[in-house]
Amino acid sequence: MQTIDNFNFSGQKAFVRVDFNVPLDEKFNITDDTRIRAAIPTLKKILANGGSAIIGSHLGRPKGVDAKYSLQYILARVSELLGVNVDFANDCLGKEAIEKSAALQPGQALLLENLRYYAAEEGKPRGLKDDASEDEIAAAKKAEKANQKEMAKQLASYATVYVNDAFGTAHRAHASTAVIADYFDTDHKLFGYLMQNEIDAVEKVLKDTARPFTAIMGGSKVSSKIEIIENLLSKVDNLIIAGGMTYTFTKALGGKIGHSICEDDKLDLALSLIQKAKENNVNLVLAVDAKAADSFSNDAKTQFVPVDAIPDNWEGLDIGPETETLFAKVILASKTVLWNGPTGVFEFENFTGGSRAVGLAIVEATENGAFSLVGGGDSVACVNKFGIADKMSYVSTGGGALLEFIEGKVLPGIKAIRGY
Ligand code: AMP
Repeated sequence: MQTIDNFNFSGQKAFVRVDFNVPLDEKFNITDDTRIRAAIPTLKKILANGGSAIIGSHLGRPKGVDAKYSLQYILARVSELLGVNVDFANDCLGKEAIEKSAALQPGQALLLENLRYYAAEEGKPRGLKDDASEDEIAAAKKAEKANQKEMAKQLASYATVYVNDAFGTAHRAHASTAVIADYFDTDHKLFGYLMQNEIDAVEKVLKDTARPFTAIMGGSKVSSKIEIIENLLSKVDNLIIAGGMTYTFTKALGGKIGHSICEDDKLDLALSLIQKAKENNVNLVLAVDAKAADSFSNDAKTQFVPVDAIPDNWEGLDIGPETETLFAKVILASKTVLWNGPTGVFEFENFTGGSRAVGLAIVEATENGAFSLVGGGDSVACVNKFGIADKMSYVSTGGGALLEFIEGKVLPGIKAIRGY
């Protein structure tokens, strides 16, 4: 398999799939350019080698051609960060895209308009009538899959090599993220630096694990984390359960949780996860105390109480100090740490304490030589908020893609290039 470091792009035209799906304000100014910055090393390498880059991305979820989702708004920032004047094609499939990509010279870059203007990118029919019959739906799906192949084939025809650097969409089998790879031979498809770094970080944690390995799973619901928890139970030494999920476990064990967030239909599941942890010799670490609030608000009255004795009408919105100490002790004794999801409602300043304590313990463990991987939207927001992102070994740019990768799923964007 080719690697971005070893591939010589001299004289090559690269179709580079990036994830420039950045947040924009109402005046179409970029409010966070992290995703653009993340793909710059790959683009720079291609141009520095004397290659040219045809850059493809999606932005938002347009239902068709819609100026609100135009990549034109981010063109200036891409040019600025890349240090060259990037050209723009006002469509990804039309005449302009074909002509401009054909005319591209070594050292030049072209940004194509939003790939998701076309339903074919996702390969799913749009605008099906509510009363469409099953046959009509099946026919529309089949037609869109065929369109997807055509779209992938056309995008591939612009280039001599395919580079996928869009980890954020690696869990999607889209025209530009996966299907396109079929139109390049093994020597002409590769991962960009970002994609390679993301894969390396996850595989270091899951396959090449330094022990003890501790995963901290937070967030609101068990239901959204079941598959990850189950997959991790065969891999970790310690599994720390935090955040809103805590109370489903506490209630299942017979505790009083007041009106803390709880999934009553997942109590049996919580018990079976506790059982599985035992069978796998995994140390399942649950909170022992909570910072309880008398309402779901930053200004609520608060008290620290045992996690299984939360008064009626109070709810646990973060972990308490004893739990912070307990979690920190486990984290500090670890050589690999994976953190996904806050320990409490970190959006409220008064309930950030637990997440901050976990973040700082991971920083200390990392300074002591542990490998730490932080990922999944809200934990990344946490480490940014606490100013400790650069003290982690790796902070993933992936949301859904990262979670599916940790769940043990094969991601189409990865498989399309390396075959698994
Ligand atoms: P997730 O997207 O599943 O990772 O969940 C993140 C969300 O969980 C954040 O918005 C937190 O506010 C929320 N959360 C964490 N702890 C609690 C809690 N104890 N009660 C309610 N929501 C919580």
